[in-house]
Amino acid sequence: MSDMLLEIGKNPQARKLLKTLGLPLPIPEALRREKGAIRARPLQDRKVIVAGKGELVGVVAETLAAAGADPYVDESIRAAFVAPGETFGRPPRAIEAEGRVDAIVFDGSAIASAKDLHALYESLHPLVSRLSRSGRVVVLGRPAAGLVPEAAAAQNALDGFVRSVAKEIGKGGSTANLLIVEKGGEKRVAAVLRFALSAKSAFVTGQPIHITARAKGGDEPALVRGLEKKVALVTGVARGIGAATAKALADEGAHVICLDRPADDTATTQLAREIGGTPLLVDLAEADAVAKIIDAVKARGGVDVIVHNAGITRDKTLARMKPEQWDSVLDVNLGAVARVTDALLPHLRDGGRIICLSSVAGLAGNMGQTAYAASKAGIVGFVRAWAERLAARGVTVNAIAPGFIETRLTAAIPFAIREVARRLAALGQGGLPEDVANAITFVATPGAQGLTGQTLRVCGGALVGA
Ligand code: NAD
Repeated sequence: MSDMLLEIGKNPQARKLLKTLGLPLPIPEALRREKGAIRARPLQDRKVIVAGKGELVGVVAETLAAAGADPYVDESIRAAFVAPGETFGRPPRAIEAEGRVDAIVFDGSAIASAKDLHALYESLHPLVSRLSRSGRVVVLGRPAAGLVPEAAAAQNALDGFVRSVAKEIGKGGSTANLLIVEKGGEKRVAAVLRFALSAKSAFVTGQPIHITARAKGGDEPALVRGLEKKVALVTGVARGIGAATAKALADEGAHVICLDRPADDTATTQLAREIGGTPLLVDLAEADAVAKIIDAVKARGGVDVIVHNAGITRDKTLARMKPEQWDSVLDVNLGAVARVTDALLPHLRDGGRIICLSSVAGLAGNMGQTAYAASKAGIVGFVRAWAERLAARGVTVNAIAPGFIETRLTAAIPFAIREVARRLAALGQGGLPEDVANAITFVATPGAQGLTGQTLRVCGGALVGA
């Protein structure tokens, strides 16, 4: 069922009327989204203010100009923007005292004390209310680990700051995220910054994203059509997040092996035909599933991207849960993920991607979801452990943890609970399958080589969850 409040909010007259009625609920803003493949200039003509003076200003300057943005900068950092501005026809401009801004980027990498943090306040305080609808705040920092205590505190402060800003600006459809750049990860910032500032990250907010040099290779990544000539396997494609993901990966050029249960033959075959992929009718709970998957992957000469999306819920409180309910949730959501990963490792090409679906319910815990949350928290440990083991092969392993997403899975939730769940997020609405698909697809692209072992929330700033 569609989101009534969101639909009403799209009509300016109705919006005005509801405001004058003084309803206690903020009317959510329709999010700016973008259909189709990742663009070469995803920030074309966007007005981006850059503040903060750190070690990452250079990479920010390059990235913005190449992505088509118009940078507005303080005199103290202007020099870094001149050369990229000339190359891409995007000269730096002075920050204006008023008017809308599309995004704010703050380089906090040099902040080392409580006093230094004042710069964060000073820069963002006058700007935050000028953010346009679906605006963006991105803060860059360094990992706190290994720093002297005062500097570690200051860097960790950025995390609390960003999560709070995310909650404050969510009602305007805007997001705030933190990029934590490890030494050596600087060259890998560009693609992540593009994603965080673009419409493709519409439902990602309040999220720290670590950028590391851990996984080998991936220098000079293709920023568009990044999955050309690559083979992807997606499980659970008949509907929801899986269907959207298969389409989004195909948009980037991948050949997608589309797996779902034999009972979902029609939807699976139709989707595969639509995107020029291969249907694969397999029940992951069956003993012969792994052998069938290996055959399908071998027929394509190997695989580059594995998306473990298929998942089930059997919600019951622990006291009421039947053993077969517990077992099937743990087996499909975690057991099958482990079995398929093991079996495919010899066929997964170097530089590949393993992406698993977790859930914010798994991170935060949820009433009636002991089995589901156990399986989804299990995924967090799974990706961390595999990331270590596969880094030398350039393979990255990450999880995506959706919050409330409008799919069949959530349509089954009783109306009142569903309505509350939608509103319990900074963005005040549920996400769409495409929002999750866009995050998965970004992680699958060569530009995301700096991300591994992480669990990325796509939850609209869910008020519950990590
Ligand atoms: P969905 O129920 O709409 O689709 C899941 C697909 O997986 C279905 O097509 C189903 O046939 C397939 N599947 C299930 N068991 C299978 C098996 N044994 N073998 C082969 N295929 C099987 O679900 P969705 O909402 O699109 O969720 C996709 C993933 O995202 C799941 O892992 C889910 O736990 C996770 N997730 C969803 C939400 C949400 O709000 N929708 C939130 C958090 C996490």
